[in-house]
Parts: sequence; structure tokens; C-alpha cells
Amino acid sequence: MRLEGNDITSYTGLLGLFGHPVRHSLSPRIHNAALRAQGLDFVYLAFDVEPQHLSLAVGALRALRMRGVNLTVPHKQAVLPLLDEVDPLAARVGAVNTIVNDGGRLIGHNTDVSGFAAALRTVRHSGAADLHCLVLGAGGAARAVVAALLEGGAAVVRVHNRTPERASELCTAARIWGGAECGVIADGDLRAAAASAHLIVNATSIGLGGRVKDFPLPVDTVHSGHVVVDLVYGVEPTALVQAARDRGATAIDGREMLLMQAARAYELWTGCEAPVNAMRDSIECGER
Ligand code: NAP
Repeated sequence: MRLEGNDITSYTGLLGLFGHPVRHSLSPRIHNAALRAQGLDFVYLAFDVEPQHLSLAVGALRALRMRGVNLTVPHKQAVLPLLDEVDPLAARVGAVNTIVNDGGRLIGHNTDVSGFAAALRTVRHSGAADLHCLVLGAGGAARAVVAALLEGGAAVVRVHNRTPERASELCTAARIWGGAECGVIADGDLRAAAASAHLIVNATSIGLGGRVKDFPLPVDTVHSGHVVVDLVYGVEPTALVQAARDRGATAIDGREMLLMQAARAYELWTGCEAPVNAMRDSIECGER
């Protein structure tokens, strides 16, 4: 493919993404659109970093004087001991999705928390305030979601996960974070928990190709009073989002969260207010 408008020089700074895999990622598209919109002399590249090479890749941030990177699956938790400092929110969540290289000192942040909160506010002005919430999943993304729900003033947070022990761990941590009643939902109680929830969040990695029958939650429990947030995203609405909309619910996929976590990371690296409209346009004009 022929690249146009290439103004890369020996001064150009480097930002990037470490993940495995990364080829599906929209982050290069989003960040390079923002950098171009503001005329900042950086490029953002995606690096496919296998787990056994994470330590080397993090070392390269210092050696190459990269300004920072995002981290995605499977590195968000594994990176913590490799950093010089972890911001208190990221430490609480136990996951880092953004590293800032501050003169050789690597500082970890978690912008998924504010990204989720901002995405939720696009469909509910008051965010999580006073909501009864059901979170499906207990991995790194679910931990960020639960932290955002607690910070946002949710009344009740219930967690269901395929591996119940991970849901228990998350709820134990969340009770220490404080603010809301937290509890684990067993398979047999899922239907009742969904019926009494205002907000349902899919933070499992059951993805775009998934069919609604793959979801742990029977879709006939979703009703028009629900707000449904699926962290998964793609060009088409996810199976869960489509099924929820068909049932009259308000439903969004993970694109707005992706965008808002990217905006916060961009601000941490550049010190500039993120050009959110240019970033949004970059993902609305198709996927590569
Ligand atoms: P993770 O740490 O690997 O956790 C995956 C979660 O999905 C676990 O709870 C896992 O359950 C569950 N799961 C996986 N396969 C399942 C299946 N077949 N049936 C039931 N549960 C299943 O991953 P993560 O970082 O939390 O990411 C989760 C999803 O959120 C991914 O799709 C990711 O792309 C998305 N995400 C989106 C954004 C955004 O900005 N939109 C940000 C972060 C993440 P077990 O514990 O039982 O394995």
C-alpha cells in the first residue's frame, strides 16, 4: 500500500501499542488521526509482542526513548512489575493499559476506567449513579468496569464469570474499594440478577463473531428498560448489542470506550487536549 502525507523525519517521536495479537487494533488509526489533526510530530505503531518478549519490549521504551505505549491483551497485568511507578488507580485495578515514559521513568496508568465511565455517560447522563449493575466477566476489563461503576456511584454491582473464583476475587477487591454492595452471581441466579439490574455490561471476550446463544446471559432477559454496554466492538453491532436493541434496550458496543480511553492516553503523552472528533471520525470511516 502507498502511504501519503508522510512527514516522518529524524525528529519524529514514537508511540505505540504492545499486544498479542494486534493486527485487529483500531488504536493506530485513532492516534495517528489525532496526531495529524494537531500537527504533532509523532507516529503511533502497533507491535505484536509475544508474552516472553514483554520485558525486552518495555526496556526498548527506554532505549528508544519512546514517549509511551498502550498495552492490550495479554500484557495489561504482566507489565506491572516492569514499571518504575504505577498510578494509584491502575494499581487498584491491577492492570495498566498506558505507559508514559517520563525521561526514562516508566509510569503505568489505566485509562480504561475513565474510558468506560465516559462511554456510559453517552447513553446515561448521570453515568453509573445509583444504578444496579450486572457485569459479565472478571478479567482486566471487568476490573476497570467495576472500578468505574464504584467511582461513578453505582448502588449495587453484581459479577458473573465462567470461572467463579475470579468473580469472587474481584468482588473481594471491590468491597475494599468501597461505595457499593458487591456480590458474585452464580449461574442459576443470573436470570434473576439480570431482571433486577438497570445496567448489563459484557466484559467477557466473547466477541464479534459470537452468537447470542454463546452469551452466559439468556438474551430474553433483556428488556426495554435496560442499558447494555458490550465492551467488544467491530464495524457491525455485536450480536449482543443487536439482540438488546431488538428488544428495545439502549445498547452500545465498545467503540466509545475505546475512543475515550485513547483520548485520555493521548492527553497523558502529549499534554494536549485530545481532538476527540477527529479520533471518532477515524473509526467511523471504516476498519483496516
Ligand atoms: P481477559 O482478562 O482475558 O478476560 C476475559 C474474560 O472473558 C474472563 O472473564 C473470561 O472468563 C471471559 N471469557 C472468555 N471466553 C469466555 C467464554 N467462552 N465464555 C464465558 N466467558 C469467557 O480479557 P480483558 O482484557 O478483560 O478483555 C475482555 C474483553 O473486553 C475483550 O474482548 C477486549 O477486547 C474487550 N475490551 C475492550 C475495551 C474497549 O475499549 N472497548 C477495553 C478493554 C477490553 P474466565 O475468567 O472464566 O476465563
